[in-house]
Amino acid sequence: MNPVTDALLATLKARVCSSTSDTYTTTEVFTGGELATMPESSVGDVNTAYELALRAQREWAALPLRDRLAVFHRFHSLLLKERETLADLLQAETGKARRDAFEELSEPAIVTSYYLRTAPKLLRPRKRAGLLPGAITVRELRQPKGVVGIISPWNYPFALSFGDLVPALVAGNGVVLKPDSQTALSPLFGAELLYRAGLPNGLLQVVLGDGPVIGGAVVDTCDYIGFTGSSRTGALIAARAGERLVGCSLELGGKNPMIVLDDADIATTATSAVRGCFANAGQLCLSLERIYVPDAIFDRFADAFVAEIGRLRQAGGYDYGADVGSLTSQRALKTVSEHVDDARAKGATVLTGGRPRPDLGPYFYEPTVLTDVTPDMLCHKAETFGPVVSLYPYRDEDEAVSLANDTEFGLNASVYGRDLTRAAGVATRIRAGTANVNDGYASAFGSTDAPMGGMGASGLGRRHGAEGLLRYTDVQAVAVKRIEMLNPPRWLPYGVFSRFMAVSLRVMKALRLR
Ligand code: NAD
Repeated sequence: MNPVTDALLATLKARVCSSTSDTYTTTEVFTGGELATMPESSVGDVNTAYELALRAQREWAALPLRDRLAVFHRFHSLLLKERETLADLLQAETGKARRDAFEELSEPAIVTSYYLRTAPKLLRPRKRAGLLPGAITVRELRQPKGVVGIISPWNYPFALSFGDLVPALVAGNGVVLKPDSQTALSPLFGAELLYRAGLPNGLLQVVLGDGPVIGGAVVDTCDYIGFTGSSRTGALIAARAGERLVGCSLELGGKNPMIVLDDADIATTATSAVRGCFANAGQLCLSLERIYVPDAIFDRFADAFVAEIGRLRQAGGYDYGADVGSLTSQRALKTVSEHVDDARAKGATVLTGGRPRPDLGPYFYEPTVLTDVTPDMLCHKAETFGPVVSLYPYRDEDEAVSLANDTEFGLNASVYGRDLTRAAGVATRIRAGTANVNDGYASAFGSTDAPMGGMGASGLGRRHGAEGLLRYTDVQAVAVKRIEMLNPPRWLPYGVFSRFMAVSLRVMKALRLR
């Protein structure tokens, strides 16, 4: 079943920065069999990766932006040309349905074409008003940070590596990438494609190994960290980066709410919510895990939602036959099973699903809907990160908003209703970095011009939009003094000069010059 050829595997392994003979084995998720034996990096290799990337970065940053962008034009074409190979790798190492793999590989393509279009404007030097008009001219420059460390999780290993590292490279940086160990093949294939597209040798390095050790070494070496993963690890990384005074952006977990308003069309809402909850088998940071439904339409919505879920096809296989794939690991299966079993034991009702599917593969779990969920249950507040959603009734809009906001997280939210102005108004009352009206997550996430990220425990900083590129730069203000006006000539007493300056400051304020 394993679609990864030995020749491709050898090419990908050669892209790992590793000097050790240590290896580890990854799993082909649909069967639980062996997928690949991968080289492991040491802490010393992380230092080497940084040095090699830095050496290449100096020349890269000096290139005209047009020449840098040419690489990404070619990368975009290669990415779409090689999409089936990439989808094979993604499915093999994550167990996701092929449609989820296609959705995943589309993200870096969209991001690449977005920054190809916008980077020239965003990175262009800007004129700033000088202290004394005419006497001082100022330009604001965007200097690359140096070498950016990107640490990515296993659920979207390609999108969350390349969607973030492409803008880092575009901005003139080198990159050291540390993907999750189980899901290294698709990121390594992305690196291979970038080098085929003409990326200078050494500029992008990939290191593999234990999260705290090798990820920690990346945090200890690089000049900026772009991290995607759990809130727990994010807090550790922020503290560690803080000790070195290097910046970081953190894209973390969520417990995302959806509110159905009383004027929502029940049938279309139920259909759309299915994707919002069960894309990537729920292993999506933006997934909806809590749905709030008005008392009056609760039962009708629950019936329509469960009926829609009944139409989903769950299966393994390297084709577009399935709507829902597998969970990625035994660990994910354990968490999902624990959350559902705990809820059931404490009195929750399972409307559909609620059991593993070993007949489909070792880590499959059915799309599951719970009701009667209470605060003492694990799935009430904690991120399940699987195909499990809870339905809660509410009395009025204020209660729905307050329940939606009753979480430490603030990543994504969703509001469904016919009156779009009203629904958008409710969306703005939810404390979440992205809020979608009549959609689960794709409208906001796919709109790359809008920044995306989390509030509260869901993160710091933003990907996409101007912020998604500019976070990888330091601002430098270069001021040129053309006429000496800041210091008085020797013959002028400072008291006289200060009176003259005070008058000048008043005039400048009146003229709105300062
Ligand atoms: P994780 O935090 O365990 O691991 C993420 C990455 O960090 C992995 O590469 C891991 O090896 C590495 N790592 C682990 N410990 C480290 C340490 N001490 N120092 C440096 N690196 C370390 O998260 P996970 O379980 O792989 O991913 C699932 C989580 O990611 C979920 O909470 C999910 O919501 C979140 N996530 C967030 C987004 C987003 O955009 N906000 C996207 C996808 C996933």
